[in-house]
Amino acid sequence: MNENINCLKLAEILIVDDSPANLRLLSSLLMQHGYNVRKAISGQAALRAAEAVIPDLILLDIVMPEMDGYEICQRLKSNPKTAEIPVIFLSFLTENVERVKGFKFGCDDYINKPFNLDEILIKIEKQLNLKAAREEIMQMSAEFKQEAKECQIQLESVNAKLKMAFHDRLTKLPNRASFIDSLETALNRAKIDSNYQFFVLSIDCDRFKIINNSLGYQIGDRLLAAVARRLETDLSQDDIFARLGDDEFAILLGNRQDISSATKVASEIIKKLAFPFHLQGYEVFVSASIGIASGSREYSQPEHILRDADTALYRAKEQGKARYQIFEGTMREKACQFLQLETNLRKALIKKQFCVHYQPIIDLKTGKIAGVEALLRWQHPTRGLIYPAEFIPLAEETGLITSIGIWVLRESCRQLRLWQITGIVGDSFSVSVNFSAHQFGQADLIEEIDRILAETQLNPQCLKLEITESAIIENTESAAIIIQQLRARQIQLSLDDFGMGYSSLSYLNSFPVNILKVDKSFVQCLDGNSENLGLVPAIMCIARTMGMSVIAEGIETTQQLDQLRNLDCHFSQGYLFSRPLEAEKVKELIASAPQW
Ligand code: C2E
Ligand code: MG
Ligand code: MG
Repeated sequence: MNENINCLKLAEILIVDDSPANLRLLSSLLMQHGYNVRKAISGQAALRAAEAVIPDLILLDIVMPEMDGYEICQRLKSNPKTAEIPVIFLSFLTENVERVKGFKFGCDDYINKPFNLDEILIKIEKQLNLKAAREEIMQMSAEFKQEAKECQIQLESVNAKLKMAFHDRLTKLPNRASFIDSLETALNRAKIDSNYQFFVLSIDCDRFKIINNSLGYQIGDRLLAAVARRLETDLSQDDIFARLGDDEFAILLGNRQDISSATKVASEIIKKLAFPFHLQGYEVFVSASIGIASGSREYSQPEHILRDADTALYRAKEQGKARYQIFEGTMREKACQFLQLETNLRKALIKKQFCVHYQPIIDLKTGKIAGVEALLRWQHPTRGLIYPAEFIPLAEETGLITSIGIWVLRESCRQLRLWQITGIVGDSFSVSVNFSAHQFGQADLIEEIDRILAETQLNPQCLKLEITESAIIENTESAAIIIQQLRARQIQLSLDDFGMGYSSLSYLNSFPVNILKVDKSFVQCLDGNSENLGLVPAIMCIARTMGMSVIAEGIETTQQLDQLRNLDCHFSQGYLFSRPLEAEKVKELIASAPQW
């Protein structure tokens, strides 16, 4: 309170009066009470003084020559700089009309002449208090505005973050969480509105990983963004297009009446992707496989619709990619079987249900067995012998191939070493073991191989690893190092199914292998007339130029064998010589020393 009074006492008051005597009297009175006082003898002087240094209060005489108090007051109040200064009129005019007129011109109070000192002091203090309160309110309001502004900024930032959490940064599309949200909304709507029908398209780019690995992640990312831009055109307002992760996209087709509208969108997508993308000087082609599921009210959870669309998508991939498939209930059964297979596959390893069969590889120069290829079999307790085509893809997908592959390698090395020790085979006899692309990217692959060679005491020169072109393409970063480490150990590397894969021969330079295995589909051409021998002579030529040897696979006829001998093919393998056999049987075959 005291502080307040002190503060008021320091207030500056401008007194405006045309009478010097009045000015003198008033100013000395006010100064005695601690006010700072300035004086103006005319209207003009008052306006100048008020604008130059803003006083805290003005005492203003009404009746003055040239410019009266009303006009001065009006001018003060209409000038934003001086508008807030409280004005108290000093006057002999005590008529009510005059007072009303004064208030109309903006005065804040009235003091009658002749002055009563107490009245003056009280009214001044009252006006100064009011002014202080007004200023405080204005200050608070400014602070409040500032706070409100800060809140707004915070809110916007939270909103932006929220948006980010529901958006994919790369493509700017809604992400998986957002898509599931939209699916849930659609599902709920379908439950209350029997006319509402929607469809879900699950889209996956084919062989995207290869593009990523061969052209780099930057181009891979650009490609995904470009795919998003190309596919989002022509969708309607009820549709939601999202990126679910990696190279997976999904579309929710809202409010569509029948499946034909969904298949139409799917066909359009496949067509749109048929045109190449031009990215950083590269012309990139990408296709997509699509699974379609109808969103019926029978679904309890949105994730289940997406799961079914995914199941259909896998079917589309299985059937050769760049196509769409509509989900059917039977696919779910198949997916369940797949799941069952996975469980059984895990058990098979523990229960030792795997075995290795061996197929002889013939040296065509001597006509004798020079080695064997180890081929995995699953001795299923109820289903009998299962071939790798049925379970290797799943083992690759689940990562189980790593443990299975190591088991095959250990078993094959152990077997060959046993034959060596018992004198069934000579020192140059080799075993070829198949490695999938997934295993080739395994971080501790070389250590595992070293461990197995040490354990089994097999000479590394007797071991050959068979990989496919995709193993190299999918592991470009590690492949060169692995190949070099294998070479250092004198382990040989065969390129299996050569000619079936990417057939970009350039990688043969950077990733030198020892052997090309010509796929059986090419060998079949050797049955026709000798003018058209297909690709085999060309492959022989490539191998010769690059210092590699060739194994022809899948020889079933003597005509094929003769042609291969004519072409100077070094090694060969096929049913003509022997089917893959159990270890015991192949041992007998080797012991009988056949010659072709
Ligand atoms: P692959 O490595 O190209 O093996 C050759 C396949 O052709 C074998 O099939 C073999 O039985 C078959 N074959 C051999 N001669 C003939 C013939 O004259 N005519 C015909 N039509 N076929 C012949 P299999 O044993 O069913 O193996 C299929 C594929 O499974 C293998 O192809 C290989 O890629 C993979 N595989 C086999 N064992 C393993 C393994 O231990 N690990 C991995 N990762 N893959 C394996
Ligand atoms: Mg093979
Ligand atoms: Mg092969």
